[in-house]
Amino acid sequence: MSGVFIASLGHSGSTLLDLMLGSHPRLVSLGEVHATIARAAEKQNVCTCGKAADDCPVWGPVLAAVRKRLAADVARRKRRARETFASNVTWPGGTTSPR
Ligand SMILES: [Zn+2]
Repeated sequence: MSGVFIASLGHSGSTLLDLMLGSHPRLVSLGEVHATIARAAEKQNVCTCGKAADDCPVWGPVLAAVRKRLAADVARRKRRARETFASNVTWPGGTTSPR
């Protein structure tokens, strides 16, 4: 199995391309599945197979991986925000921290 990632500006025809590619019997088009997966990772949804998304044999592992990545991204963004704040803020008295 291999994949192709198509990115484009809005209203540039990528959805039409997605639909045309997805109509081929040997291709699977996921559209904007990244947004659906991110939303599903945030709350408990029911899969079309009838199981809770976390218990679905297809989407359960995907959601677990997304949650793990989201947690890492949040930690990385917090660290970057702290570093940016600390390197750009001078507190009264000329210190770089409020202590
Ligand atoms: Zn399922």
